Amino acid sequence: MVQYVDKIEDLQSVIDSRDLLKEHEFYIKNIKERATYTLSPEVEQVISLYEISGSNAWSDLQGFLTSTVPVEYKGETTTLSDIRNKAYDPDPEVRRSAYEAELKAYDRIKDGIAFSLNSIKMEVINRCKLHGYDSPLDEALKNAHMKRETLDALLQAMEEYLPKFWEYMRAKAKLLGHENGLPFYDLFAPLEGNSDEFTTEDAKNYLVNLFSTFDQEETDMIARAFDESWIDFYPHEGKVGGAFCAGLAGVKESRILTNFGGALGDVVTLAHELGHAFHNHCLRDNSILNLDVSMPVAETASTFNEVVCLNAAIAAEKDPVARRALIEGQLMDANQIICDIYSRYLFETAVFENRENEFMFADRLCEIMLEAQKKAYGDGLDPEYLHPYMWACKSHYYSGGLSFYNFPYAFGGLFARGLYAKYLQDGESFVPLYKRLLKATGTTTVEGAAEVAGIDLTDVNFWRASLQILADEIDEFVSLCN
Ligand SMILES: [Zn+2]
Repeated sequence: MVQYVDKIEDLQSVIDSRDLLKEHEFYIKNIKERATYTLSPEVEQVISLYEISGSNAWSDLQGFLTSTVPVEYKGETTTLSDIRNKAYDPDPEVRRSAYEAELKAYDRIKDGIAFSLNSIKMEVINRCKLHGYDSPLDEALKNAHMKRETLDALLQAMEEYLPKFWEYMRAKAKLLGHENGLPFYDLFAPLEGNSDEFTTEDAKNYLVNLFSTFDQEETDMIARAFDESWIDFYPHEGKVGGAFCAGLAGVKESRILTNFGGALGDVVTLAHELGHAFHNHCLRDNSILNLDVSMPVAETASTFNEVVCLNAAIAAEKDPVARRALIEGQLMDANQIICDIYSRYLFETAVFENRENEFMFADRLCEIMLEAQKKAYGDGLDPEYLHPYMWACKSHYYSGGLSFYNFPYAFGGLFARGLYAKYLQDGESFVPLYKRLLKATGTTTVEGAAEVAGIDLTDVNFWRASLQILADEIDEFVSLCN
């Protein structure tokens, strides 16, 4: 296919000659662009075969080591994922001791994982060179259909607002009794707050009510999802954790899996997954080849719904302690997509840079991680209690085909908030643009989709406006702490 499209002379006039081709212009041009970075079929086959025992195998090793390493905790043996989950425990002693046990556990596996990371990154560097990309970042951006200028604008705005997030962390630290900033193990400490219970019927009424002030089409779809059993709500044995949404393009519907427990957070999760379903709904009349949505925009409608839901909950909460907990919950997530994602971006950038001429042993990788965390978290975190092994436990660094699996999170979170800011400003007239934008995500670049709603993603001011919403929340949180 790639070779075939590449050989077509004057592709544009061929596309223009037929409506069917015109409809798939973006799809066809992507094939043409990919051809620029594709070698002969024989060479591509060799690369693919070698990846099986190269990056794929190294990635499996990281997965194997992190999922099987025994973690000693209070006289018992547990797993890394279990011990990491204790970061959400309401008991401060559990959070701290779990963090200490976690850090100790890496000693047994750090060398294997360091070899894995070095090998994957070397393979990516070499493959990118062979394919003609400027760098692994260049490849990641091209795969995401996103311009470098957009990433630069996003990062610039994030850097400007980092100190605001440090303020949030210091306030949370004080609240928890820490004088020197937040220790890493208390980043996810839950605050005492709202304990409202919802049935799935309550959740339906709540969401239908809430979205009826936004858009009737989305409200109707939400009601259908509940009434026509699109949702598998409850946890049961053998069912995976978390939540997700799958589109069924053939019947123009979606299916949702959640582990509903009845808390407000579970209603927000439903709103998130229903956002994905609504995104699918907006794409429903696209041809099957025009349904693929690039990573940075995939979380737009879902995050938008989360923001709608949480902001309504915050606005309705009059009790200051419960209100503070709700705001903090939202800031805790935002802090992850700003400070943590920024630290991950810095780390991966440094690893790619160094790997050209250096093999990095585990200690060196820890050093690079600590440096990245200090830059990203500033004085928000207690420098005595950082997390030098974040490179070892995050599987995102261990994919040969997907580098920089970090900035899309920051993009997604801030893009959705920027759209929400625009909705607050423009009101009803924004809604049809929003739906056209969602539909366009299947047939254009991220910049092209944003343009539908009159947004220039290369303009740093757009990102500043998104961040300012969070900065205002931080101000309110800090004042509620005093
Ligand atoms: Zn999602």
